Amino acid sequence: MIYDVIIIGKGPAGISASLYTARANLKTLVIGKNSSALGKASKIENYYGFSEPVSGEFLLQEGEKQARNLGIEIVPDDVIGIERNDFYEVITSGMTYTAKAIILSTGQPQKKIKIENLEKFEGNGVSYCTTCDGFFYKGLKVGVLGFTDFAVHEAIELEAFTKDITLFTNGMELQLTEKFAEDAYRFKVNTRPVSKLDGTEYLQSIYFKDGTMEEIDGIFVAYESATSADFARKLGIMTEGNSIVVDQHQRTNLEGFFAAGDCTGGFKQISTAVGQGAMAGRGAIEYVRNLKEK
Ligand SMILES: Cc1cc2nc3c(=O)[nH]c(=O)nc-3n(C[C@H](O)[C@H](O)[C@H](O)COP(=O)(O)OP(=O)(O)OC[C@H]3O[C@@H](n4cnc5c(N)ncnc54)[C@H](O)[C@@H]3O)c2cc1C
Repeated sequence: MIYDVIIIGKGPAGISASLYTARANLKTLVIGKNSSALGKASKIENYYGFSEPVSGEFLLQEGEKQARNLGIEIVPDDVIGIERNDFYEVITSGMTYTAKAIILSTGQPQKKIKIENLEKFEGNGVSYCTTCDGFFYKGLKVGVLGFTDFAVHEAIELEAFTKDITLFTNGMELQLTEKFAEDAYRFKVNTRPVSKLDGTEYLQSIYFKDGTMEEIDGIFVAYESATSADFARKLGIMTEGNSIVVDQHQRTNLEGFFAAGDCTGGFKQISTAVGQGAMAGRGAIEYVRNLKEK
C-alpha cells in the first residue's frame, strides 16, 4: 500500500500535521516513539486555550486521542531509515512503509554519546552517515557505535564496502528486534564501555575503560535512535547545524519532503510546533494533489 503522507514523530508538530492531512482525505500514517520533549514538561502555562496549567503528558495524550478519533493510523515505532526511490520508503524495526510525501517532526536531535576525541575525528575516521562515507572504507576495518536496530541497519549498509565490521555497544546490551538480531550474527560485537578514540591525523584506535584497545580505520555513529540530522545527511537535505532548513511553507530542498517543529530549530515551543505542523500538512496536501493531477 502507498500512503499519501507518512508523518514521522507524534509530538505536537506531527499530530498537528496529521489533523490537516487526514481531514483533507490524504491517506496518512503517523509513526512515532513515546519520547516527545513535551513529556518532560510538568507545567505548561503559555499554550493557548488552557486557563489552568496543564502537563505536557496531558497534551500529548489528548493530541493522540484527537488524531485517533479522526481515524488516523498511529504506529508506535522507531524509524531507523528513510530512502528515496520512486516514492519514499520509511524503514522501521519491523516494516517498510511507502509514501508519496514525508513530514519529518522528530523533535530536536539530542547528543546521545560523549566519548573523548569523538568530535576531534569527525571527518577523519568518525562518520554519522554510511551512505555518504561508507565508500571510503572499502575493505577496511570499521565499527558501528550503537546497540539498537539502527546500528545493525547501518552495519548492513556498510557490508557493501567491507566485511570487517564490529558493533561497539559502549557497555550496553544489544537491544534488537528478532529481524535485526538475525542479521547481527554476521558482525563482531564488542560490549566493553569505550573510553576514548585515538590516532594521529586520522582515527587509528579505540580504547576501552578496562584498558584494552582495538585498531580501527573508521567508526560510524548510530547510537540509540536515528535523529532528523541522521535522516538529513543520508537524503541530502540541507541543514544549518543540526536543524533542518525549511522555507516558509515548511518545504525542505527535497521534493515532497517537509519538516516541522523543533527539528527545524528556531523558537522551540508547542505553539510553533503546532503552527509549523499545520503548514507542513497544507504543503503536503498541495504536493500530493498536484501529483494526482499530473
Ligand atoms: C522540560 C521542558 C519544558 C518545556 N516547557 C514548555 C512550555 O512550557 N511551553 C512550550 O510551549 N514549550 C515547552 N517546551 C518545548 C516543547 O516541548 C517543544 O517545543 C515541543 O514538544 C516540540 O514539538 P515537536 O513535535 O517538534 O517535537 P517533540 O515533542 O520532541 O516530538 C518528537 C516526536 O518524534 C518522535 N521521534 C523522534 N525520533 C524518532 C524516530 N527515529 N522514529 C520515530 N519517532 C521518532 C518522538 O518520539 C516524538 O514523538 C518544553 C520542553 C522541555 C524539554
